[in-house]
Amino acid sequence: GPHLSSTGEVKYFCLLSTSASYWRGDENRESMQRIYGISFPEKEQLDEYLKFLEEARERDHRTLGPKLDLFSLHPEFGSGLIYWHPKGAIIRKIIEDFWKDVHLKNGYQIIYTPHIADISLWEISGHTGFYKENMFAPMEMEARAFQLKPMNCPFHILIYNTKLRSYRDLPIRWAELGTVYRYEKQGVLHGLLRVRGFTQDDAHIFCTEEQIEEEVINVLELVSFFLGKFGFTDYKIFLSTRPEKYVGSPDGWAKATTALENALKKKNMDYETDPGEGVFYGPKIDIKITDCLKREWQCSTIQVDFNIPERFHLKYTDKDGSFKTPILIHRAILGSIERFFGVLIEHYKGNFPFWLAPEQIRILPISERHIPYAENVMNNLSQYFRVQVDRRNEKVNRKIREAEEEKVPYMLIIGDKEEKSGKLALRKHGEGMLGTFTPDEVIQKLKELVVDR
Ligand SMILES: [Zn+2]
Repeated sequence: GPHLSSTGEVKYFCLLSTSASYWRGDENRESMQRIYGISFPEKEQLDEYLKFLEEARERDHRTLGPKLDLFSLHPEFGSGLIYWHPKGAIIRKIIEDFWKDVHLKNGYQIIYTPHIADISLWEISGHTGFYKENMFAPMEMEARAFQLKPMNCPFHILIYNTKLRSYRDLPIRWAELGTVYRYEKQGVLHGLLRVRGFTQDDAHIFCTEEQIEEEVINVLELVSFFLGKFGFTDYKIFLSTRPEKYVGSPDGWAKATTALENALKKKNMDYETDPGEGVFYGPKIDIKITDCLKREWQCSTIQVDFNIPERFHLKYTDKDGSFKTPILIHRAILGSIERFFGVLIEHYKGNFPFWLAPEQIRILPISERHIPYAENVMNNLSQYFRVQVDRRNEKVNRKIREAEEEKVPYMLIIGDKEEKSGKLALRKHGEGMLGTFTPDEVIQKLKELVVDR
């Protein structure tokens, strides 16, 4: 039926796109034009929205990614699978090294697990039941079926079960940058944001019921720390509680939910409750970050699980010698490295901060005779930074323009004057000349921009 009582209610509008379609998708019927538009009551609101669309279009990671030579997709050989080019891969390496360092400093241990396992593992975990439609089809080998992993959890559990754990061992925190494969419908795939293969910054915490609150506080602190380093300080936090269908005891759910609530309150983090939106296996906290265009992205998640510990008969011996079942907490901070990278590209508009920039400094010799000195400076600076020399026989203005387009944060220009004085002309992306400095001054100045772990 009509959604408006009168078209007079439509004030300021703009046609956004058109497309041809058939009545009810039947190609034997006549073709129709479908039009998409947007309307606002005030002109300013429409202008603001159109500006937002333009800005979002300019930041689109699917355009910037190939333009800056960061990543590509090759759908002819499989949709939703990401190829990291050297410039994207160095950013990923920096993020991953940073992530591992911080985890090791915060009481986590790093583990590595396989990418496939016999389907029976997924039967025990329950994934072949409740998660089947998100899984790739199994592979037959040696008369067995092997499943590509959609999640890392069962593998971590197998390691847990290699020996009898005591209450003294808990909490155990195991982290893995685990690559998983999930089947997503072709139509929902979207650049780096919705893919079929991705790496989770995953960790599993095995703890006692009493330890949940403190463990969640630690994770929330890690979340603020990591996201803050990338300039995300605005979050929306959701606490999801017990759904209608659930496993575990109502008492266990109540205790875990209270522990999550208390952790959020102690960290003074505002949150909204999503009643009944928890996963069937336990309550959870989801954190959405807000980027510079005020768009929200789901990143971090902290989930308590009452299901898997039961299914795999996880045990620890308590103080009195009795066997107890530990609590399992699944958590990811960035979520997926691929997705987070997509968000970062759009958030920064490809202007990565100094510590992440694939090429941090480009040295631009004015003519060929300045190349030896430029290389000398490069060797000196490359002990600390990622530096390249533009050796091409091009005018320096063109070299500057291209370094600007490629979003290299700093440029050092070297000509006769610089070579004679031993000083370097330092130029900043988007800002222009900063002045002349000795190589040592440049090192001191730029070292401060490297993120503190
Ligand atoms: Zn998990």
